[in-house]
Amino acid sequence: MTHILIRGGRLLEGPADILVRGDTIVEVAASDIPFPPDSKIVDARGKLLHPGLINAHMHGHGNLGKGMGDRWTLELLLTAAPWTNGNRSLEDKYLSTLIGAAEMLMKGCTACYDLMAEFPTPSVEGLEAVARAYRDAGMRAVIAPMVADLSFFEAIPGLLEALPAPLQKEVQRLRLAPSGTTLENMRKSLHGWKFDRDEIRPAVAPTIPLHCSDEFIVGCGNLAREYAAGLHTHLSESKVQAVVGLRKYGKSLAAHMDSLGVVGPGFTAAHGVWLDDEDMKRLAARGASVAHNPGSNMRLGSGIADMRRMLECGINVGLGTDGATSSDNLNMYEAMRAASLASKVRGPGWQRWVTTKEVLAAATAGSARALGFGDKLGRFAPGFKADIVFLDLDNVNWIPLNDAVNALVHTEDGSAVHSVMIGGRMVLENRRLLNVDLARLARDAERARERLERLNRDNKALYQRLEPVVGSFCPALAREPLHLNRYAT
Ligand SMILES: [Zn+2]
Repeated sequence: MTHILIRGGRLLEGPADILVRGDTIVEVAASDIPFPPDSKIVDARGKLLHPGLINAHMHGHGNLGKGMGDRWTLELLLTAAPWTNGNRSLEDKYLSTLIGAAEMLMKGCTACYDLMAEFPTPSVEGLEAVARAYRDAGMRAVIAPMVADLSFFEAIPGLLEALPAPLQKEVQRLRLAPSGTTLENMRKSLHGWKFDRDEIRPAVAPTIPLHCSDEFIVGCGNLAREYAAGLHTHLSESKVQAVVGLRKYGKSLAAHMDSLGVVGPGFTAAHGVWLDDEDMKRLAARGASVAHNPGSNMRLGSGIADMRRMLECGINVGLGTDGATSSDNLNMYEAMRAASLASKVRGPGWQRWVTTKEVLAAATAGSARALGFGDKLGRFAPGFKADIVFLDLDNVNWIPLNDAVNALVHTEDGSAVHSVMIGGRMVLENRRLLNVDLARLARDAERARERLERLNRDNKALYQRLEPVVGSFCPALAREPLHLNRYAT
């Protein structure tokens, strides 16, 4: 196996060389590493090297819907799904994923947890198309189809009845496939997975507890266990969910999921804005992770999750951007800055604000653990994969360089990303993607966008008729008092 010696670079801690063998780091040393004779040398002088950022929560199908909406709550976004994600062909699914992979690579992100969606049920071919996009781009991913057996309108009690009769009839066609079909399709996909699980692995995502019958959640849990796959869900993301969950289950959503036996070390709760202290302690006791998405939580008006309290309770916290329809770009540098700022805006008790070091740890090692890659990604250490971002220290973001971690979290915005290595292979070199033809991608995406705009005209019109009803019914639910056992900040 050939060696790669990355020489003369600066790590966050100071100058060091990195020796890579195959796809793995074998040595990191502050002094010159004597290089094996077969080494290829990568000159990293003038570069800051950091472990590839890891996006713990995003939605690859959202990329073709980029920029479609503005003032969306989570519930309005869900209502818009047939418009933003309707009528997708297999090629669209590939394309949408590839757009996101290209963006993430160009912005220093080397692995992601993709909760992709297919309506009315996931398919083996659809999941393969998504996996192919990541493989072709050279990026790592955990791919979890978002599944449910209840539509949004069936999930929120009273909402269907609040619609005028003709609209009630129209939303009938948004019904999902029967739970047995969906579980069977996922089983087929998990069973016949063709991709190297070190690079692209499958997982299971019962999308939102309220959208899933208990039997369905248990079925998802069984699949995850059987195939040693992760389980990911949107947990107490919006106040509407927290209020309805309490009413429906007589306990919090986290307590409900736990009572179904699906919360464990492979469990990732996305958002967790409305978790209380008891929920957090429960997740921590089970070894679960939270994928914190501060940008999306602000963009959808969901609230500000308490990352400090999550860390204090002992939860593994990863960081995500969420999808392009809820937080627009997939820029993990921006997600880090948002995580830092969101913690600060909770109040003036500065001693409880998360530090830049904690934010960076969430975006690397924390996310790695949420993806199930805790022993392979997120650190520069022997035995870890060589997923390395090279930042140009000549970029204005780094003039001058005072504290590297502060600058990475607060100043860097992706514009200094010069090269990206994944598993010892360059995927971005001198700002150019090596595996993706961006000009062609733009042409293909524009063709798809045009076609989908036409095909989804009726779905857009349906959204416009639903918006006033959902947009008043759900915020009214969210105005109900919710007595959470919250740590006072
Ligand atoms: Zn999400």
